[in-house]
Amino acid sequence: MIDRLGRNIDYLRVSVTDRCDLRCIYCMPEEGVPPKCHDEILRFADIERICRQAARLGIRKIKITGGEPLVRRRVEELIRTLKAIPGIEQVTMTTNGVLLADKLQTLIDAGLDAVTVSLDTLDRSRFSRITRRDELANVERSIRAVMEDGRLPLKINCVPMTEQDPADLAAVAAFAKEHPVHVRFIEMMPIGLGKDCGFLSEEQLIERLEPFTGILVPVQEQLGNGPAHYYRADGYTGRIGFISAVSHKFCSGCNRIRLTADGFLKSCLQFETGEDLRPALASGSEELLAEAIEKAIRKKPAGHHFDERDAAGAEHRIMSQIGG
Ligand code: SAM
Ligand code: SF4
Repeated sequence: MIDRLGRNIDYLRVSVTDRCDLRCIYCMPEEGVPPKCHDEILRFADIERICRQAARLGIRKIKITGGEPLVRRRVEELIRTLKAIPGIEQVTMTTNGVLLADKLQTLIDAGLDAVTVSLDTLDRSRFSRITRRDELANVERSIRAVMEDGRLPLKINCVPMTEQDPADLAAVAAFAKEHPVHVRFIEMMPIGLGKDCGFLSEEQLIERLEPFTGILVPVQEQLGNGPAHYYRADGYTGRIGFISAVSHKFCSGCNRIRLTADGFLKSCLQFETGEDLRPALASGSEELLAEAIEKAIRKKPAGHHFDERDAAGAEHRIMSQIGG
């Protein structure tokens, strides 16, 4: 569907749970999120209904996210169902990777098209400090499993922090050296707990990475469905990408909407604007559901105001409740 500013909205992020087995300091509080009761979280059948209507309105790609999507039981069944919806071309997932190695075969069998693993550091003590869990070995095991298996395209997403050792950032980037893996650095966004963390801009990151990677040369390739832009480094098989929502605002090309685990369809990452789809779901009417989705898309703001700390209407949810 084309929104009122001419943007083609064809990408839906679906958060299947707000729970997580990690506690990244910029995303989730140490104590986790207050557990929602079973009834508050959308059932797979509801997610399917929403995605069917979204596909009729022009959604072509779905990203399964969380919280941590792999802690939701039988998420592979949802993937299989969504893949069968007419119009849906691609179902991908973003995960912290802790459980991925064990679930890889089931996810591939279900038809998952690609996976993104979030990995901020390769330093075990730093990983434990950032995520508050000692799980780096499992994440690395998963990344190796995906690479060795070779069937699932892999990206790695890293949210660097200001004080992070450049050699550590370069170690994450080095996954792109030997393997056809794209490593993307995401600027910390001032959403939820991220408001209190500084961010490294794309230019600062390039300055820190180049002593290790050599000159990063911009390439014009479109690799994926999002706003990342990419560079190549000599001797690297994969690309180094940047998602620079703060320093290089990309809202004029934004193609996405986001469904929270409790059924709210968000039209912008930063704002609460959107539609609660639960009344339409409860009505049993697919027509009302489609109308509610259209309404959320029609309300999509022109862009974020990350530069205003307390922008009117800004989101109260934390990132683990939105899904990134
Ligand atoms: N648990 C999964 C994971 O970590 O990939 C999926 C959900 S997580 C919220 C999705 C992505 O959002 C992760 O790559 C995470 O690093 C990123 N993220 C969380 N808070 C952020 C923030 N304030 N700014 C930028 N990215 C953030
Ligand atoms: Fe969990 Fe992902 Fe948030 Fe980390 S970034 S706490 S892994 S939801």
